[in-house]
Amino acid sequence: MAKQPPRIGVIGGGQLARMMTAPAINLGLEIKVLAEAADSSAKLATTQIGDYNLLEVVRQFARTVDVITFDHEHVPLKVLEALEAEGVNVQPPSKALAFAQNKLNMRQKLGALGLPMPAWAEIRDASSLDDFIAANGGVAILKTPIGGYDGKGVRVVRSAADAIDWLDNLADFGGSLLAEEKVDFVRELAQLSARRPSGEFVSWPLVETIQENGVCSVVLAPAPNAPDEILAKTTAIAEQVAQGLGVTGVLAVEMFEARDGRIVINELAMRPHNSGHFSIEGSVTSQFEQHLRAVLDLPLGSTAPRAAHSVMVNLLGVDDKNDFVQAYAKALVAHPEAKIHTYGKGPRAGRKMGHVTVVADSVEHALAEARGAAAVLLRG
Ligand code: ADP
Repeated sequence: MAKQPPRIGVIGGGQLARMMTAPAINLGLEIKVLAEAADSSAKLATTQIGDYNLLEVVRQFARTVDVITFDHEHVPLKVLEALEAEGVNVQPPSKALAFAQNKLNMRQKLGALGLPMPAWAEIRDASSLDDFIAANGGVAILKTPIGGYDGKGVRVVRSAADAIDWLDNLADFGGSLLAEEKVDFVRELAQLSARRPSGEFVSWPLVETIQENGVCSVVLAPAPNAPDEILAKTTAIAEQVAQGLGVTGVLAVEMFEARDGRIVINELAMRPHNSGHFSIEGSVTSQFEQHLRAVLDLPLGSTAPRAAHSVMVNLLGVDDKNDFVQAYAKALVAHPEAKIHTYGKGPRAGRKMGHVTVVADSVEHALAEARGAAAVLLRG
């Protein structure tokens, strides 16, 4: 009798879980999702609805699958550690996720590995923040170490007075804050990679990410005009992070290219990432397929590009009436090269509701087509 296909359990029912579903179907893998609500983006693969903060809920889910992985990084470490102690296969493991959940832990660990970062300090009171600001040109970026995403929990400060509300409530953030040098950057870059538990490591071409109001809006793959020495640097950084932190599955390393030429690490994501959505059409192996292969410890696929340029434009909600499917007739006829992905989410201003990718010989053409399609989808 044929063996049962491996069963992958994804915690979190967002668009990342949704986009893992297609390659799971193609490869004949079973995918199950533990979602927060019945109408999540990943409802097609949802087998359980429940609160991922509760050990018993996640334990019950873990019993139905062979490996647990994630759509987000918020499952409490205590829950994962308890399951690992019971023999549950968690990928990436809790010891790696600890560094993605807490930006201070991440900075400490990357520092110990000698990796390039902005100047930073742990802040426990107003005077140490004022000292840090004075030592860094009169300005700093202040971050809450836990719970931030899409620019929430990140603030430009010129004096401790700008952060009184956070300093007065340090207990809400684990007892301290992270202050960073405000990097004068020419652009933001992201290096996507994947690693198997048994060690195999691959990386995709470096990409440039463009943000609007702290949210990723456009990704250019490959990053335009990136010299070989930068590419060598960013892939080496990704490999050192993946190995040094014991990351498995897909890893995104977000970086700044500083005006003074430094490449410094901003953030880590230990799961498929917005900067890698282009890979669905733009790479031989998408980040979503690769993540499934990696967490199952299967051989990894080629990350070679399938086109000279891929451009991804996020569909960020304009209002609470956006309805992409309504706009399909017009968008599809005007932009036949556009590959449209919608996440099945209710419309809301600023919400990531989908994305469009165009692959082409020229970056200008890909960008114009992707932006054109996005404009029709968002504004009719
Ligand atoms: P989040 O966890 O919300 O994604 P990030 O740490 O990525 O937060 O910061 C969000 C944005 O703020 C970044 O994309 C970047 O534009 C800006 N930013 C963050 N840290 C710095 C820094 N040290 N110097 C300059 N800009 C920064």
